[in-house]
Amino acid sequence: MSETDYQALVDGILSDVQAYRGQGTVPNYIPALAQADPNKFGIALVLKDGSTYAAGDADQPFTLQSISYIFTLSLALHHVKGALWNHVGREPSGSPVNSIVQLELEKGKPRNPLISAGAIVVTDQLIGTRGADAAVEELLAFLRERSGEEGIGIDEGLAMSESRAGAFNRSLAHFIAAFGNMLNPVEEVLSAYYRQCSVAMTCRQLARAALFLAFDGVDPRTGDTVTVASRSRRTNALMLTCGHYDVSGDFAFRVGLPGKSAVSGGILAIVPGTGAVVVWSPGLNTAGTSLVGSVALESLAERTGWSVFV
Ligand code: GLU
Repeated sequence: MSETDYQALVDGILSDVQAYRGQGTVPNYIPALAQADPNKFGIALVLKDGSTYAAGDADQPFTLQSISYIFTLSLALHHVKGALWNHVGREPSGSPVNSIVQLELEKGKPRNPLISAGAIVVTDQLIGTRGADAAVEELLAFLRERSGEEGIGIDEGLAMSESRAGAFNRSLAHFIAAFGNMLNPVEEVLSAYYRQCSVAMTCRQLARAALFLAFDGVDPRTGDTVTVASRSRRTNALMLTCGHYDVSGDFAFRVGLPGKSAVSGGILAIVPGTGAVVVWSPGLNTAGTSLVGSVALESLAERTGWSVFV
């Protein structure tokens, strides 16, 4: 495809979703997210040479929420390597994102790193013995470097708002700690967790930051090895099997690309060997993924034929 074709692609997706805009429900369990405008929609596609094609509200920041799990996973694996898998599993959960039921049955070892309980364990491992601030600073530095945007920061008000409303995550974290699967005090881990979820980025910035996952861990624009190839592939495998709460199978069926959905309405999708795509629209479907964003990614898959199952 030529440059004009790629711009026509994202413009075409924008027109495909027009009829759906405003649909979906904004989450009300995080008060600050409940004020988001469901009419917003943005899409950004970044390719190997860094060229970016965007449409709609692609330059409006939103908070990463559980898309941040992808980056903390990558950083934690860098620090603790395979030992991470003693603390968290690699199977789809088939349960709602904040479910506690499996944690009891499986003795405090969360099913995978892409559900809340698993992400809390990953953040604890990333903190290690350094303290929460060092872990959050490492994440911010990583995102700034990969996106090339020094201004990326945390929406501290949102982090506070989520912490105040965070009974579910607090329960999960205490449950994990009760089974001896937490190194650091629960409140310290949660403070890092809420801050990582509240990093604000635009579709364009986030697609750039995740580009290394489409190229076996190498950022194709700089040649930097961000992570080893096997780890990059495995992160994509986890996104495909676990990236969308209890509808990960359906997402793989409909879109056919590794991805991660977040409660803020962002969805990151990786097209191995080609690029990274981020869509954002705050209204969620009943499964908790962006309603308009999912339609947009289905349209992308249909228009391009991109799939990991070719
Ligand atoms: N910060 C959110 C939570 O822990 C993230 C959830 C999500 O994006 O799915 O509830």
